[in-house]
Amino acid sequence: MDNLRLWHKFLETIKPNLSSANFKSWFLKTSLKGLTENTVILSTPNAFVKETLSQKYLPLIRETFEKLLDKKVSIEFIIKETEQIQHEEENDFFQPVQTKSFLNPKYTLENFVVGPSNNVAYAAAQAVVQNPGTSYNPLFLYGGTGVGKTHLMIGIGNTLQAKNARLKIIYCPSETFMNDYVGAIQTRKMADLRSKYRKADILLIDDIQFFSGREGTQDEFFHTFNELQSKNSQMILTSDRSPHEIEKLEDRLKSRFAGGLMLDIQPPDFDTRVAILQAKCLERGESLPEDVMETLAASLNSNIRELEGELMRIIQVLKLKNLQPTMENIGSLLHQSPSPAALKDPKKILSGICDYFDLPLKDLTGPRRQKELVLPRHIAMYLLSEEVGLTVEKIGGMLGGRDHTTVMHGRDKIKQLVLMDRDVQKVMVEIRSRLIHK
Ligand code: ADP
Ligand code: MG
Repeated sequence: MDNLRLWHKFLETIKPNLSSANFKSWFLKTSLKGLTENTVILSTPNAFVKETLSQKYLPLIRETFEKLLDKKVSIEFIIKETEQIQHEEENDFFQPVQTKSFLNPKYTLENFVVGPSNNVAYAAAQAVVQNPGTSYNPLFLYGGTGVGKTHLMIGIGNTLQAKNARLKIIYCPSETFMNDYVGAIQTRKMADLRSKYRKADILLIDDIQFFSGREGTQDEFFHTFNELQSKNSQMILTSDRSPHEIEKLEDRLKSRFAGGLMLDIQPPDFDTRVAILQAKCLERGESLPEDVMETLAASLNSNIRELEGELMRIIQVLKLKNLQPTMENIGSLLHQSPSPAALKDPKKILSGICDYFDLPLKDLTGPRRQKELVLPRHIAMYLLSEEVGLTVEKIGGMLGGRDHTTVMHGRDKIKQLVLMDRDVQKVMVEIRSRLIHK
């Protein structure tokens, strides 16, 4: 198998395991540079991609290559030389590859299940489809993970594209915009960046909360925004929280976002969850009895992505074990890994963190702002929020009356670090395992 075929095989194999945003951001611009006896060398477009791949995706990459090549390999990353990028960009200048929009055809307005949690957002989507650029610009959709923001946004894009094939629609996870911006600075190709985004008829930016703290990106986006708005090009933005709750986001952007229509999507209620599960089964040509579907919807949490994952897992296990989809069989498959009780107990969590860092509890919850207290506090905020599910206000109270925005900041910081930072990953594993074995 030559390198190109091998790389394509690799992409095909990993694609189902990743969200399309992650797949595009981290893998599509990466390539297989070379292959020696037992080393696979991957060439990444920039340091950011290299870092993310090696911090977050190394096991997946290695295991996949090992399966494909049927031997043990190690993975090395190099950064594509700048000249090469410049060269490619020059070639791309008249027909930039990246501007060919790719909208995941899986997400349509037709297969978006409407219920009380999302009907207002859905109605707004319909209005945007009727009159893009004029009725609600921007449309700002926000809500927790897995509630269907990306699905609805891309659904609008697909419908508009079907109505008019010549519309230039750009879908872009916020990371892509940031990377493009950084790349444009490095290669002094700001004009290309501008022509790419400012020519869009429809611009879809996903998960814009990641613009937080990125001043240069925000500034560039502000100008893009103004230009597109003045041309009546429709913009749709999503975020996991409302613009006001995004820290380190310039006020002028907040007020621009608020100038369109901001709508939240809530986690779906029970009936909507059942309807979504039914739709997902149907799409995949599977069927499960209604009572089974209801049990699933009742027992699983409201993140639809997880719900869907769990549905697929159960269908697979039933097939593998050759079991009928009865209530008894499903019941035994559910709840296979409940969180240990200690991870649900705020007091135990706090004392576990203190044990690990060798701190008195009164320091963790006290007013002092010493540097060495920052990480333990952030970890407390993260675990109390993610594991116990306490509100940020409540957590602020437990940690000595800290403000809820401080808590949000700390929680999100750890959320990011557990993906990127090996030391923090180790600390978290250690704290969790101590709590579990307490
Ligand atoms: P978000 O962007 O809010 O994190 P996604 O749009 O990625 O969530 O949705 C997660 C999964 O749940 C996707 O597979 C999506 O198709 C599905 N989903 C979410 N809401 C709905 C809905 N109302 N109808 C059908 N599928 C949905
Ligand atoms: Mg999303």
